[in-house]
Amino acid sequence: MISDEDLQIVSQHLGRPARSMLEVSARCICGNPVVVKTKPRLEDGTPFPTLYYLTHPAATASMSRLESAGLMAEWSNLLEDEIAEKYLKAHRGYLAEREKIEFVEELKETSAGGMPTRVKRLHALAAHSLAVGEGINPIGDLAVANSDWKIEKCQCDRPKEVPGLTCVLPRIILNSFTTTPLN
Ligand SMILES: [Zn+2]
Repeated sequence: MISDEDLQIVSQHLGRPARSMLEVSARCICGNPVVVKTKPRLEDGTPFPTLYYLTHPAATASMSRLESAGLMAEWSNLLEDEIAEKYLKAHRGYLAEREKIEFVEELKETSAGGMPTRVKRLHALAAHSLAVGEGINPIGDLAVANSDWKIEKCQCDRPKEVPGLTCVLPRIILNSFTTTPLN
């Protein structure tokens, strides 16, 4: 389930009402949604292949910059041997996750971002990596690693929480009590 608050933030990020969204799959360190899981068939009946959708404006802008820099062609050349195998596995995993929600005949064998043999849309590939974690989608991992936007460094116009005060500080205080000196 996605909360009304998150739905509202995603709508602001997209500049249109967010629909057919199931849950938040990745968040900025401040708590704002970055990737949302979308229904394989939208409420109006349209088949929607992109299960993991990158919605954060700074993240999508960063992916667009990587695409403009021509990295899709460069990374397509990496799709050989072990990387090609991993990419195919990522594709199958993507389909399996989506089909757990709903099997949509029109989308059979279609995942996202150009998988399993092409690199077409870094937004979708990065969203996959951010949602499932590093080590699953090799090209998505590259997009995340080369992005000037970082999930662990809040670049939100409106952070959900103030990271320095609500997350980091208590941890530092806690660490000062629980860690032993290195020497
Ligand atoms: Zn943030």
